Amino acid sequence: MKKTYQGSCHCGAVRFEADLDLAQGTFRCNCSICFKTRAWLAGIPASDFRLLSGEKSLADYQFGKKVIHHRFCTKCGVRAFSRAGEQVAVRVNCLDGVDPKELIAAPVKYFNMRHDDAKSPPAETRHL
Ligand SMILES: [Zn+2]
Repeated sequence: MKKTYQGSCHCGAVRFEADLDLAQGTFRCNCSICFKTRAWLAGIPASDFRLLSGEKSLADYQFGKKVIHHRFCTKCGVRAFSRAGEQVAVRVNCLDGVDPKELIAAPVKYFNMRHDDAKSPPAETRHL
């Protein structure tokens, strides 16, 4: 069942709301940026995401094909979400007040984007 979560960066400049169901799944990925930032994400439609504050504190990082906007707080450096077209990927670790049991129970799917393969998981995932 979808719930509305409040989320934020570390310093609190960036605040958002996201409607999502953690039981529907989260994902991790081995691509260059997900690996370096240890991303743990939930993908939701942009219509289920609302930035409440912090637009002025958000920088936008893009690389490669420049499809994804990797937003981050310029004050504390935390990456609370990314956006690509009408999809938003929320860092589930930036959701506030989540019962750890919900995170523990959330299914995790692994993407092998280091090898441009979204269809099968990487052979090894323990280090992601
Ligand atoms: Zn911040």
